Amino acid sequence: MRLSMKLKEKEKVQQLSASNVNWPELEKKVYMQTFKRLPVTLVRGSGMKVWDSNGKEYLDFFAGLAVNCLGHCHPVVVEALTEQANTLIQTSNLFYTVPQTQLAELLVKTSCLDRVFICNSGAEANEGAIKLARRYGKLKLNGAYKVITTHESFHGRTLATTAATGQAKFQEPYIPLPNGFVNVDYSNISAIKAATDELTCAIMLEPIQGEGGVNVPDDDYLKKVRDWCNEKGILLILDEVQTGIGRTGTLFAYEQYGIEPDIMTLAKGLGGGVPIGAFLSKENVTVFKPGEHGTTFGGNPLVCSVAVAVLNYVIENNISNHVKVVGQYFVDKLKKLAAKYDCINEVRGKGLLLAIGFNADISEDVMLKCLEAGLLVNNVKPNSLRFIPPLIATDNDVDKAVEILDKVLKERK
Ligand SMILES: *Cc1c(COP(=O)(O)O)cnc(C)c1O
Repeated sequence: MRLSMKLKEKEKVQQLSASNVNWPELEKKVYMQTFKRLPVTLVRGSGMKVWDSNGKEYLDFFAGLAVNCLGHCHPVVVEALTEQANTLIQTSNLFYTVPQTQLAELLVKTSCLDRVFICNSGAEANEGAIKLARRYGKLKLNGAYKVITTHESFHGRTLATTAATGQAKFQEPYIPLPNGFVNVDYSNISAIKAATDELTCAIMLEPIQGEGGVNVPDDDYLKKVRDWCNEKGILLILDEVQTGIGRTGTLFAYEQYGIEPDIMTLAKGLGGGVPIGAFLSKENVTVFKPGEHGTTFGGNPLVCSVAVAVLNYVIENNISNHVKVVGQYFVDKLKKLAAKYDCINEVRGKGLLLAIGFNADISEDVMLKCLEAGLLVNNVKPNSLRFIPPLIATDNDVDKAVEILDKVLKERK
């Protein structure tokens, strides 16, 4: 049964490759042009590798934007997905379902938080977190509703999460945005203190800024923010959409800073490739009453059963520690590259959320040359290249990626 399915998939891929449809050309006619895409149509993936419609193979150090934590089509993901697809896919939240409750229990057991709400994406998780903080402000903080966030942050593309995202390029096209958001400098506790007033209900931060360029804050920043929140009686929301599920070398990044958030959001790695998000909260903060928040698709049996399987795999195989070890190996290799090439002036990040900084805006060019040489990496900023491979990447994969990068940089000289 499985073998014949595999054969059918292969045939389908071959047909796609053989067909003379120009997919990018067609896309340009029928799809909204909101993305700056690479000139490649991906048709298949397995483990650390993907293939395009010409049959070209790539080593994937992008992982569907830090999503495919177990690589492409991992048997744990595929089996959970197919088994649940043959059992029960969607019920709405008018009923109890087993996978949703199992996932919530697992998240509560493995984090410092007590309650879970499951949705479909990172932006939606952050929307929910903001709504919960505002509800808390209304009931417990005399109607406080303002949320302080940081410059260079990224929290999503809905209107409220765009207002939370402290980057002008995302906000400007949509002004006026929902009010109640204050953006201040990252890793700067004085800026947070100065922006806090009697209408502030929460501070929302990424433990490491991902889309903003892999920015690691000062070691004591999160602790200082936590202390400030305690002093003011306001909430700390950690957006762990990118840093969560082992990405930085612990299951959740907050564990490395000796603090606990009141609310935490997850998404990217949570489903190992399927669309899912979640926000979690401490019991005393969870002031929602029935009817005050909801979702049709969120927490459906299909994606929850995959997330349960992924999370169990990550925990049972101590993938977080693997990430710590391989991440350190990767950092050492990148530092050697930095010593060899003057154009690299920084290596930053934690675990397998890493970036190199260049002394000029060359990251797009380097990324395109890596693509040509069969390596997927991301030009997160004009002067920074980001590495977010699947968490199952080995030393050997790192060697191959660094070898390609080395070759590309040598040829650019
Ligand atoms: C990707 C990301 C989001 C948005 O997630 P979507 O699933 O694209 O809505 C929010 N916060 C952080 C930190 C992210 O990296």
